[in-house]
Parts: sequence; structure tokens; C-alpha cells
Amino acid sequence: MGDSSPAAAARGLTKTYGRGDAQVHALCGVDLDLPRGRFTAIMGPSGSGKSTLMHCLAGLDQPSGGTVTVAGTDLGSLGDDALTVFRREHVGFVFQSFNLLPMLTAAENIVLPLELGGRRVDDAVRKRVRTLADALGVADRLGHRPAELSGGQQQRIAIARALITEPVLLFADEPTGNLDSATSAEVLRQLRRSARELGQTVVMVTHEREAARYADDVVTMRDGRIV
Ligand code: ADP
Repeated sequence: MGDSSPAAAARGLTKTYGRGDAQVHALCGVDLDLPRGRFTAIMGPSGSGKSTLMHCLAGLDQPSGGTVTVAGTDLGSLGDDALTVFRREHVGFVFQSFNLLPMLTAAENIVLPLELGGRRVDDAVRKRVRTLADALGVADRLGHRPAELSGGQQQRIAIARALITEPVLLFADEPTGNLDSATSAEVLRQLRRSARELGQTVVMVTHEREAARYADDVVTMRDGRIV
């Protein structure tokens, strides 16, 4: 608490794919601070490097050069196993396709990341599921399977699942890509509330200007650079 250092930071980040003539410079020296408790949108046209930047920030991909620091840890200093554990414990993801497991109820989907981390579902966990589901307006849907939920409800369950581990960073990759505009607005408001009311640091990749309007900060990329 009271820590004013950013939740995550990138310095001099570069990423080059391929070799020789086929070389693509996806990131060309990106410096970025993600302040705690803020909702940041990364925008830009297709191919501008948004996904590559997000993957490097999330420890899903290794940059060619530069550093990524998340909660004070230099991701480049971690080996593969340590990085996997770090991601599981400190990073949450929400995707365009909600990726809920169809045979599990909403509540079972939400606690899955904890179970995969070897944590027992005790009263404290059940209380947190309640709190998140209340905050996200899906408390009356916890016993339902994904097929019985609307797209917006499924995405809000996916947000609860991403938040259950209390991640330092929540990444949302085109979270409204499969939703109609009314439902999109609802999901975007929930992401904004996660930042405002739960103090969650949220990073959303989108190419939709409309979606970016909900963010506190907008970072625009072009040709591998922040412009
Ligand atoms: P965006 O998310 O903004 O659409 P990306 O980060 O996906 O952009 O891609 C940035 C550039 O890097 C593009 O030119 C893309 O073709 C290239 N790129 C991305 N991933 C790979 C890969 N695995 N191999 C080769 N080139 C890639």
C-alpha cells in the first residue's frame, strides 16, 4: 500500500520476428509505465504491435531486447518455470472468446485458477467469489453453466475468474470483440470499475476507438512504436 511505483514497466522493448529479408520489427523500442489502479487501453491498427507488446508485458513472449518489470520483478531474470508460476500468481487474462469450461458451473470456472495453483476452495475463497460476482452483477448466475449464460454474462464470469487470484495485472485482449454494443458497454464499465473500485491495474488491447473511451489512459501504437 502507498507504493507509487508502476504495476508494470517496459524499457527499450524490442521484438524482432524472423531473419534476413523476412525480418519484422514488431516492437521498436517501447517505453511504458502502467500505473497502479488504472485502466489503460492499447490501441492501434492491425499489425502495429499491440499483441506483441501485451504478450511481452504478460510474460507470454520474450522480447528481443529491453526489460519488462512487473511488481518489481524483472521478467527477464526468471527461468521458464518461475515465469509460469509468476504468471499464474500475478497476471490475469480475459480473451475475446470467453474460454469458460462448458461442463463447469460459473462458480467452478471462477475458482479454477486457484485450484490449478493447488489452493483449496475454503470459506475465504467462497466469500471472494461472492464479492466478485456481486461486483460484476452475476451473483445469481453462479450455479449456471456457460451455455445458460448470455455473452456478456460469460465475459463477466471470465473477468471474475481472472480476478480471483488478485493479480497485479489484468490483461484484456479485445474483450468485447464477440459482443454487441450494449453488452460491450456493460463489460467495459465492469473493467473500469475493477480499476476504480477494486484498485485493479487493467490493460486492454483493442482496435475499437469506442472501447478505448472507457479507459483512463490510451496508448496508441503504430509500426511497433508508441505514438
Ligand atoms: P497487432 O496486435 O497490433 O495486430 P501484432 O503484435 O500481432 O500486431 O504484430 C506486429 C507485427 O509483427 C506484424 O507485422 C505481425 O505480422 C508480426 N508478427 C506477429 N507475430 C509474429 C510471429 N509469430 N511471426 C512473425 N511475425 C509476427
